[in-house]
Amino acid sequence: MFDIIRIPALKDNYIWLLRKGQTAIVIDPGEASPVENALLREKLSLRAVFVTHEHADHQGGIAGLLTRHAADVFGPAAESITALTRPLRGGETVCPDWDGGEFKVISVPGHTRGHLAYYGSGCLFSGDTLFAGGCGRLFGGSPEQMFDSLRRLAALPDETALYCAHEYTEANLRFAMAVEPGNRLLRARVNETAVARAKGWATLPSTLALEKATNPFLRCEAPEVIDSAARRMEPALLEKSGYSLEPCVVFSTLREWKNGFG
Ligand code: ZN
Ligand code: FE
Repeated sequence: MFDIIRIPALKDNYIWLLRKGQTAIVIDPGEASPVENALLREKLSLRAVFVTHEHADHQGGIAGLLTRHAADVFGPAAESITALTRPLRGGETVCPDWDGGEFKVISVPGHTRGHLAYYGSGCLFSGDTLFAGGCGRLFGGSPEQMFDSLRRLAALPDETALYCAHEYTEANLRFAMAVEPGNRLLRARVNETAVARAKGWATLPSTLALEKATNPFLRCEAPEVIDSAARRMEPALLEKSGYSLEPCVVFSTLREWKNGFG
């Protein structure tokens, strides 16, 4: 196990720094300076960088960090990652000789075509795939791919702690309430989140149990979610489906609805 330090960066990104003894792994460094400050403050040497995907807000700080640290860079082989030394495709186990333990690499295409998640010591670093209360937009993959990726993440143990890369929870839950207003646990989560944000606190980590209970994108088989999706569909499409929606069609409808949601 390791300690986890949350480093706010850019507009609403979180960079997660994992500390074990005097060594660190950093996940999705979109900026170098706040990471550098944390390393100096805690007197840590940077052992590795884990990158979930190629977007600049997740890897813009790599070059800066490498000017002062000789760290391995792990990331998707299928994407363009700065100074990538350890290309990954999913299915690998990485850093087995780090004191903080090893990580399983999970291929989760959808937000981008090569997106990876890292899972170790009961913690899931999901980048822009699974968010607290939501999921990433589809920039590089199909709805089917994203649905399958989310399903595989949701199959990890309930108590898994979820560390995603953005503080989007409040806006995500506003959408979730539009989809499933009758979900009591969701309503409770909305209230807790409002209190936390008013105090300037982070809403992360979440847990997979909480996500499965309140995140509409993981609830494509819940009756109220299906009904809400059906109301958003073209009548002709709905009729073609025989008025019985496959979970993946529900997912794809929700994802499109969220794209235009105020
Ligand atoms: Zn992204
Ligand atoms: Fe991002």
